[in-house]
Amino acid sequence: MTRYVAPIQDMRFALYDLLGADATMAGLRGGEVINRELIDAVLEEAGRFNEQVLAPLNQSGDAEGCHFDAETATVTSPKGFKQAYAQYVEGGWPGLNAPEAYGGQNLPHTIGVLVKEMIDSANLAWGTYPLLSNGASDALLTHAEEWQREVFLKPLVEGRWTGTMCLTEPQAGSDLGLLKTHAVAGKTEGTWCISGTKIFITAGEHDLAENIVHLVLARLPDAPAGSRGISMFIVPKFKVGRDGAMGERNAVACGSIEHKMGLKGSATCVMNFDGAEGYLIGQPHKGLAAMFTMMNAARLAVGIQGLSLIERALQNSLAYCRERLQMRALSGAVAPDKAADPIIVHPDVRRMLLTQRAFAEGGRALVLYAALQSDIHERSTDDAERARAGEVLGFLIPICKGLLTEISVECTYHAMQTYGGHGYIAEYGIEQFARDARITTIYEGTTQIQALDLLGRKVMQLQGAGLKHLLGDIAAFCQAHAGDEALGEFVGPLAVHAKTWSDLTQDLGKRAQSNPEEIGAAAVDYLFYSGYIVLAWIWARTAAVAGKSALPEAGRTAKLDTARFYFARILPRTHAHLAAMKSGIEGLPEVH
Ligand SMILES: Cc1cc2nc3c(=O)[nH]c(=O)nc-3n(C[C@H](O)[C@H](O)[C@H](O)COP(=O)(O)OP(=O)(O)OC[C@H]3O[C@@H](n4cnc5c(N)ncnc54)[C@H](O)[C@@H]3O)c2cc1C
Repeated sequence: MTRYVAPIQDMRFALYDLLGADATMAGLRGGEVINRELIDAVLEEAGRFNEQVLAPLNQSGDAEGCHFDAETATVTSPKGFKQAYAQYVEGGWPGLNAPEAYGGQNLPHTIGVLVKEMIDSANLAWGTYPLLSNGASDALLTHAEEWQREVFLKPLVEGRWTGTMCLTEPQAGSDLGLLKTHAVAGKTEGTWCISGTKIFITAGEHDLAENIVHLVLARLPDAPAGSRGISMFIVPKFKVGRDGAMGERNAVACGSIEHKMGLKGSATCVMNFDGAEGYLIGQPHKGLAAMFTMMNAARLAVGIQGLSLIERALQNSLAYCRERLQMRALSGAVAPDKAADPIIVHPDVRRMLLTQRAFAEGGRALVLYAALQSDIHERSTDDAERARAGEVLGFLIPICKGLLTEISVECTYHAMQTYGGHGYIAEYGIEQFARDARITTIYEGTTQIQALDLLGRKVMQLQGAGLKHLLGDIAAFCQAHAGDEALGEFVGPLAVHAKTWSDLTQDLGKRAQSNPEEIGAAAVDYLFYSGYIVLAWIWARTAAVAGKSALPEAGRTAKLDTARFYFARILPRTHAHLAAMKSGIEGLPEVH
């Protein structure tokens, strides 16, 4: 069985030493309860739950998968999942970040993302059941009427019910403007009848909770074509009245579940809506705004999935490489008393391990930084600060989602490689990480869609507001440490990259004016390029604080070593992306 130990020491480093997030959170609305003692207690408790309850079900859930009974249209989750969910609910975890008015604990997202990372590291498939309750809760909180929040949000926050996001249809994936599911006025005033087929719906049907709240995108009869004609509806599995009373089965049913490469413990459902009763959320034809609220939360959440797999892959491959004995070091035996040296002595094995560590620890700090912006955006009392944080967050979400998921594919493959043939064998559990990682680059908007959001929308349409703030912060960091010799190896290259990033962005803007196809040609390279520079900033900041941190001596040395590795071995990837972007649309001829 693979191991999982919640990386609480590194979480504390990122929160307290690197970001000073405890002080920031304490200064926000509702922050009077925030202190290290509280945060540490949450992390310790979450660590115990995830190590002891969820992690042991990861491999068995993968081997067993979900069961679909076509006669009753029911889905049974793998053995142990239902009991684990009951424990999760009993522990009060579903309401960690929800407002107190709806039964939650109102803790900042910055704490919530660490708990989420642990859940996904421990058992990614199990984590998909509560996952979409969070996105659905956000959409209800921001766009629903008060009675809808009372009736639907409270049970989601308690964990008695779970949520889904029903967007995708056979002909409408990345392009939701193509969706056909439609709604007509229902018999009872204020209700709607929704009909259509949704595919690939995560946790669309299962046995974990009493009811399932589907948030469904559909068209009203007078809807304009395309994405401007989309409305959002609440469609519960069991009908629910305005008084909150649960009634008969609604006309929505699971048609089948998918057989997948990974994430086998997560039910991926075809959902048939056959005149199902629902309620409209927000204004007619304005479902896109509600969908984006839901998707922003979900995109950051999928970025965390990527991070969580990198962490778990690292923990296992590091332990394996310390124990596995094969061949001698090139410069002579390191463990002469043993039959051979542990494989960790071989430089390329270390490259694979350090790559995983650089992205696990750097990625964690990145996600925490993004979550902190989300808390500032929601809870600061200063309007300018709120607006700024929202712009930075908007810029970082496609990077967190796109980069960390693509890198999770790379890192889980590195982990498999460090195990040699054993990595390919199911019994060792490592190949599961690689299979589970693969979907993260696809759902919640593929990497290509994240990249278009970053370059096309956040940079071109919104004039790169978030980018400008980040460039300003990087410049301030470089200036503050300009005379610091010990940091010169980080500050110098970081300043050069920031300048090139700014010039490149302007250049792409000019080229896009004469040919919009240039955006599509550059977008994915731009996402990677930007992500590597943001992580370079994080690693340079890490190098600046590691020596003064609460980490033990070995931990401080490891931080500095990893920062050096990042600058020597990972940051140069930007050169290839830059060259690719410079080749422009001409470098991508028609494929015959
Ligand atoms: C396991 C699983 C769980 C899922 N869970 C949910 C869920 O809970 N709810 C839900 O609604 N959906 C869910 N999905 C659906 C998922 O979000 C979609 O599969 C995804 O958005 C891609 O849509 P598609 O599969 O139709 O691919 P397409 O949109 O057909 O894309 C095919 C390829 O074309 C590329 N492409 C498309 N447009 C562009 C462009 N403009 N520029 C560059 N490249 C482009 C894409 O990047 C991709 O590589 C899930 C899918 C899976 C497999």
